[in-house]
Amino acid sequence: MHLFVTLTHECNLKCSYCYGKCCDDFGSDEGEDDDDGFGDVDYDLPDNISYGVSDLRVFAEREPVENFIFYGGEPLLRLNTIYEMMDEVPAKRFIVQTNGLLLHQLEPSYLRRLHTLLVSIDGEEAVTDGYRGRGVYRQVLEQVRLARARGFTGEVVARMTVGRQTDIDTQVLHLLLETDGLFDSVHWQLDAQFWRSDYDPKGFSHWVRRSYRPRLLNLIEEWVKHMERKRRVLHIYPFLGVTETLLTGVPPGLRCGSGWAQLTVQTNGALAACPAMLGMKRYYFGNIRSGVQLGNSTLGSPCSSCQTLQLCGGRCLYANITKLWSETGFRLVCSTVKTLTNGLEAALPRVQSLLKYGDLSLSDFEYTKFNSCEIIP
Ligand code: SF4
Ligand code: SF4
Repeated sequence: MHLFVTLTHECNLKCSYCYGKCCDDFGSDEGEDDDDGFGDVDYDLPDNISYGVSDLRVFAEREPVENFIFYGGEPLLRLNTIYEMMDEVPAKRFIVQTNGLLLHQLEPSYLRRLHTLLVSIDGEEAVTDGYRGRGVYRQVLEQVRLARARGFTGEVVARMTVGRQTDIDTQVLHLLLETDGLFDSVHWQLDAQFWRSDYDPKGFSHWVRRSYRPRLLNLIEEWVKHMERKRRVLHIYPFLGVTETLLTGVPPGLRCGSGWAQLTVQTNGALAACPAMLGMKRYYFGNIRSGVQLGNSTLGSPCSSCQTLQLCGGRCLYANITKLWSETGFRLVCSTVKTLTNGLEAALPRVQSLLKYGDLSLSDFEYTKFNSCEIIP
């Protein structure tokens, strides 16, 4: 099993797509039907872990953990808890998902034991600072450079949040090709369907048609050209995951793993389907003290009958359940998934040709599964 472990809900940044929208969303469901997909929600989760690390150790001794992902809020605000858990809880890989600003505070001996750092950064300086605050871009690069200098040899994933200020092709290529090799790979998630109050059908649809979809196809073209010219596969997680399925034909399941390969330990020790579904009791899977119980992670309509399900995997359980942007908004986001899968399907013969003539091997497309990259943006 893979585990997200939410250490704290506190954060040292106030990014526009997270803190800003969280404030706007507060109270925006007034007058909505009580059963809007969330079900009975526990609003009293503690901000910091309220269970003992020894409870988690006993749990992990019973349920072997592969990827143990420190998550927040900002997990590096709780360094001592990270050290204690890395010393006591057995896990195959320790991974941190962080905004990166506090990496310098992490003891080098623990830093070097981490398998992966997922660092939030949205692309070039203007784009990143526009979403996340002035000076953040430069600080993140400096911190990753320092982590490398202190002996971190694992994977550094640039984790982007993609909104309407993002030109996806330019920003992804910047992170992979213009940052001195600091980032091994890139993953992104659309800033869509997470909150209710930010649904702007006209604006979002305009951006999807005019920018995101055509630029995504251009990024796929650049990705394949790079393989053809350099014999190297740029590690763009959404492309790796979908291409693997196209090459192998193995159905992926919900690619983030929520509720079937991966669970989240909330601050109170309850096991949730995913880090976004905090407090949603209908989707609990027991807790670390009593152990894992059977829970609910079934994808409903429209995913359950979608012809793209075998490639998409269902994109997001939380979005499928809550439909915060209505059915119309949901289908608009699906149109981006279909552009991704169709674009990669169209590129497949060129990829297969490189494999056939030995210019690349399947291992060039390998990536760590369930490391917090959800694959479908
Ligand atoms: S394309 Fe949309 S409807 Fe189809 S499986 Fe993916 S998220 Fe679900
Ligand atoms: S993709 Fe959706 S269900 Fe999966 S971890 Fe992210 S928010 Fe949760």
